[in-house]
Amino acid sequence: MSHSPLHDVVIVGAGPAGSTAANLLAAAGRDVVIVEREVFPRFHVGESLLPCEAPLFERLGVTPDGALFQYKDGAEFIDERTGDHVVYSFSGALDGTPRHAWHVERGPFDKLLADAAAERGATIRYGRAVDRVEIRENEVTVGVGDAHLRARYLIDASGQDALLARQWRAVEPLKDLGRAAVFAHFEGLAPAVQAELGAQGYVKIFMIEDGWIWAIPLVGGRLSVGVVKWRGKIDEALHDREVAASPLLQRLTAGATRRPLRILGNFSFRNTRSRGRRYVCVGDSACFLDPVFSSGITLAMLGAERVADTLTAALEAGDEGREDLMEPYAARMRGAYDIFEQLIRRFYHSRMIHNLFFAEEPDPELRRGLISVLAGDVWRDDNAFQDLLVASKRRRRPQVAG
Ligand SMILES: Cc1cc2nc3c(=O)[nH]c(=O)nc-3n(C[C@H](O)[C@H](O)[C@H](O)COP(=O)(O)OP(=O)(O)OC[C@H]3O[C@@H](n4cnc5c(N)ncnc54)[C@H](O)[C@@H]3O)c2cc1C
Repeated sequence: MSHSPLHDVVIVGAGPAGSTAANLLAAAGRDVVIVEREVFPRFHVGESLLPCEAPLFERLGVTPDGALFQYKDGAEFIDERTGDHVVYSFSGALDGTPRHAWHVERGPFDKLLADAAAERGATIRYGRAVDRVEIRENEVTVGVGDAHLRARYLIDASGQDALLARQWRAVEPLKDLGRAAVFAHFEGLAPAVQAELGAQGYVKIFMIEDGWIWAIPLVGGRLSVGVVKWRGKIDEALHDREVAASPLLQRLTAGATRRPLRILGNFSFRNTRSRGRRYVCVGDSACFLDPVFSSGITLAMLGAERVADTLTAALEAGDEGREDLMEPYAARMRGAYDIFEQLIRRFYHSRMIHNLFFAEEPDPELRRGLISVLAGDVWRDDNAFQDLLVASKRRRRPQVAG
């Protein structure tokens, strides 16, 4: 093995979590290297952002521009079986919750974030996979083929690959949440449909038997449509069947071309060893919940921001080797994941969400609180809806910890 310099931080993966952490650490003057298996831009699923991460873009030096960012004003829930339909505009959230978000195509979005990190001084090595990690008392060694990197600290931002969790068999599947998805883009939407979808940019969530469908408008006259199920068979024919069975999707995609379908499975899990001496897992490599409320990227980026701030101070003080360094970060993220998990479980397995979503005259405070949660504003202590979810979790078996 060649002798290599000791970096401050090595990050595995240049997705939203890895690039956010690298950006902020490099901006604080730290020597950061990201190792990324793919060459960017590369395809990635997950295109709908939440308002609460909007302020972070400014900190990262990223400007959301109209060539990539489709304005998103809220979420629309539709049950075509019953005729139920409701729109939750972010403008109806509790005071202080940011009021809008965006939808993005992930290839260019992730490249934009990675480029911003590189501009701040982070080194990114594309097209290389980390294949082993060794954590020692005083440093971390990361193997990349027949080379290796040394660092004072390791951030695992490897997404669903969950490098450390799989190496240590610490992946705990979250049963009864979304199990698999089949999805594709439709291109060449009719101009009237583009105008209709683009005006408010709502993400449309269609409720179906044992699952749901997303319809996300993207710039360039495209619509992303995905079918998620928590049980039953997922295959390409299911996508065609569900689109054909929906009068609204039929109308929106009339005359458009469906691009090739992709399938992803077994994506809801938590990592039972998400932090420890000289390492932390952030983003999907720490925990991933069913994507129905579009929480993945927001939790990944806000978590990475917290990790970067904690680590910057620790590297400065020279106490980054403390076993409990990331406990406050982990507790903060556990609270957020818990709230979304409770919401998702009720979405699938109780009438509570259905009744609340489609109530003719919902309690106004609960409605505002629900919208704040849908916006990703899950760290406040004045949200009656959030309190209701947390209390209902206490009455049940704990689901997400760690
Ligand atoms: C079906 C589905 C729909 C979704 N929809 C949404 C949505 O609408 N909105 C939303 O917010 N989220 C959504 N998500 C979730 C979202 O995609 C993720 O939460 C988000 O990508 C997490 O970012 P990350 O940086 O943690 O991981 P990733 O974005 O997955 O990035 C991880 C990176 O690590 C790299 N990597 C992995 N292993 C290695 C290795 N060994 N060495 C080097 N590099 C490696 C990968 O190439 C990748 O680039 C969805 C997820 C699924 C499954």
